[in-house]
Amino acid sequence: RAKQEGRHGARFFTPEMQASSARNLQLLNALRSALERDELTLHYQPQIAAGSRRLIGAEALLRWRHPELGLVSPAEFIPLAEESGLILSIGEWVIRTAARQAESWRQAGFPPFIMAVNVSAAQFKQPELPELVADILHEVGLPAEYLELELTEGVAMHNPQGVIAMMAQFHERGIRMSIDDFGTGYSSLSYLKKFKVYKLKIDQSFVRDLTSDQEDKAIVAAVISLAKSLGLKTIAEGVETVEQLDYLHQQGCDEMQGYLFSKPLPAEAFTDWLRAHAEPASSGD
Ligand code: C2E
Ligand code: MG
Ligand code: MG
Ligand code: MG
Repeated sequence: RAKQEGRHGARFFTPEMQASSARNLQLLNALRSALERDELTLHYQPQIAAGSRRLIGAEALLRWRHPELGLVSPAEFIPLAEESGLILSIGEWVIRTAARQAESWRQAGFPPFIMAVNVSAAQFKQPELPELVADILHEVGLPAEYLELELTEGVAMHNPQGVIAMMAQFHERGIRMSIDDFGTGYSSLSYLKKFKVYKLKIDQSFVRDLTSDQEDKAIVAAVISLAKSLGLKTIAEGVETVEQLDYLHQQGCDEMQGYLFSKPLPAEAFTDWLRAHAEPASSGD
């Protein structure tokens, strides 16, 4: 934000802001070559059915290991990638890598699950995105039904008319869409009805204090009930305790994702997790 304001001339810069924009500049320069230097990788976090506790999906989460700076949080570098346009090439890499990994797990005979991939505002503004995604699926051999794209509520509501048109195109191609971080933006319910989405992801900020905060309880119950009446599924993010799980399950939340089940894992560790939690289909389970 400090950087954005800087473009428009003199603004108030505290030393802290200057330091942070110097770091941003350094990160942005390094990010330009992160892809070719093989510094980006995906971690995968299980998504679990509340009732059966079976694996339903996995969310692909981007990680950047800078040789000197170490692990940089996506919360820090994704906004830079968005602002600079780098997110287009990085985002394409993410979709291809996640789809390829999903197909490789499918080929290994694990019970099928959906690969969920985050897409940014800039990606979703590209009219050719649906075709690009379809091409990638074709290239790696993953059927469309095994991919889901997560779009944040903020992005969806920023340009609802454009988003409705894009969602219809993904829908036509059999690619699922969900609304991420639901509850943090300002959803217009009339738009929600027109979006071709199948799932709402309840933001983790409502889950964190769920068992002690009456307001969070009420919000979560309302979101689940809203989703049900619109025919949408719900998944809660950031589930860390059995108490949260129990409340969510009792309210009718369909799926859970969080440290209670697993942290996001590198592909090899996720394979081990699959071996331990989901027997290959061929073993006759
Ligand atoms: P998100 O899509 O809402 O992802 C959920 C975040 O919650 C992830 O943070 C995940 O590691 C974290 N999380 C999962 N379970 C728990 C839990 O039980 N407790 C707590 N405290 N946190 C949990 P992460 O990996 O740092 O990603 C942050 C955000 O960066 C994501 O939020 C998403 O908006 C963005 N992001 C990550 N990967 C990508 C990507 O490939 N493309 C785009 N455009 N954005 C991405
Ligand atoms: Mg997400
Ligand atoms: Mg989220
Ligand atoms: Mg989030």
